[in-house]
Amino acid sequence: MKDQSWQARADAHSFYGFTDLPTIHDRGTVVVTHGEGPYIFDTEGRKYLDANSGLWNMVAGFDHPGLIEAAQAQYARFPGYHAFFGRMSDQTVMLSEKLIEVSPFDDGKVFYTNSGSEANDTMVKMLWFMHASEGKPQKRKILTRKNAYHGVTAVSASMTGKPYNAVFGLPLPGFLHLTCPHFWREGQPGETEEQFTQRLVNELEATIIKEGADTIAGFFAEPVMGAGGVITPPKGYFQAVSKILKKYDIPLISDEVICGFGRTGNTWGCETYEFMPDAIISSKNLTAGFFPMGAVILGPELAGRMQAASEVIEEFPHGFTASGHPVGCAIALKAIDVVMNEGLADNVKRLSPRLEAGLAQIAQNPNIGELRGVGYMWALEAVKDRETKTPFDGSLSVSERIANACTDQGLICRPLGQSVVLCPPFILTEPQMDEMFEKLETALKKVFAEVG
Ligand code: PMP
Repeated sequence: MKDQSWQARADAHSFYGFTDLPTIHDRGTVVVTHGEGPYIFDTEGRKYLDANSGLWNMVAGFDHPGLIEAAQAQYARFPGYHAFFGRMSDQTVMLSEKLIEVSPFDDGKVFYTNSGSEANDTMVKMLWFMHASEGKPQKRKILTRKNAYHGVTAVSASMTGKPYNAVFGLPLPGFLHLTCPHFWREGQPGETEEQFTQRLVNELEATIIKEGADTIAGFFAEPVMGAGGVITPPKGYFQAVSKILKKYDIPLISDEVICGFGRTGNTWGCETYEFMPDAIISSKNLTAGFFPMGAVILGPELAGRMQAASEVIEEFPHGFTASGHPVGCAIALKAIDVVMNEGLADNVKRLSPRLEAGLAQIAQNPNIGELRGVGYMWALEAVKDRETKTPFDGSLSVSERIANACTDQGLICRPLGQSVVLCPPFILTEPQMDEMFEKLETALKKVFAEVG
């Protein structure tokens, strides 16, 4: 008889993304049925504290009544529309006003997508379109950093600085990756953090000069690299980078898909790291994960130049069927209100020192080389030898083992390289935080005892 288990049914007809299939066949698929606050429940009746907030996005938890109500009300009022041909929903208009109001910009314009990847692709196309309209069609190269994550579409995957994209023959030509700004790992012996920043900035300027500023369309950066393993920038990095980019007339785009709306303790990561980008890419927290949506938020200068370009080249031939979807916009309006005005952003500000202190305690384990992060995004990097920062042999899959040992106790966290990442929902209570610490510490001790 055909195996009718959820595992078999999932395997039969559904693809997993970013999943090591042999491991999943050994361990079993977690088929999730519902959630309560920061917890999810599976078909086997198991309960997990999701310290990943889904994929960094479910910041208000999995059952927020206000968000559900906002979605239901908008579905009843007007369940779907686009933003093409001079038409858009009232919710779209209101969300754009709100986004500019809460953005660091005095003025600006918003373009909607269904995801963060598409928002990055859209921004790249905007830059190409704008530069071409200004008589610089060769100003097309995109600068990002090694280990950056900007998405999975062909363009955003080309921006992503991960070696795994080689299987697709990516990056596309003209996508250049600079040194990852991770001081602990990339800093040279004897180099200070300030000297490291200066070295990165020198590399940026040398690259611009070598390639020619007139061939570079823009520089994209996450304020804190999320999927790169929660890499916080070294001292003075964004101030120095901004200065160089301005000197050569290269727009700075802040990819705030993870950092936006409170994750770093302020509304924007660029606020936390005190720099002013030319545009912001948003997604994930934008709808608290309750609707797939991304947004390109252009500051006043780029908005003006795009407006002028649209007049020169007639129209911007770009948009998605669900760009500015009214239900997504209604949910985003509610999510922004919930995060900013219902105490969620305050929780991050108030409790992040507690989160850091608890993790610092756990990081005293001699097999933890570095604890890094800010706000509600943290990583613990495992090492075989703390002194020499020697990693464990890759074949031991240490971070995967730690994540699995956490899952076995009902805690979800994410293995990234040799690090374990924690990015809990903003609604996490103090006892839930303690539950997370306890389970994580037990898992680390178990795995480090096994791998010695
Ligand atoms: N940019 C960043 C910084 C991200 O973290 C992600 C997703 N993890 C993306 C872009 C891509 O977003 P999406 O998965 O919605 O396409």
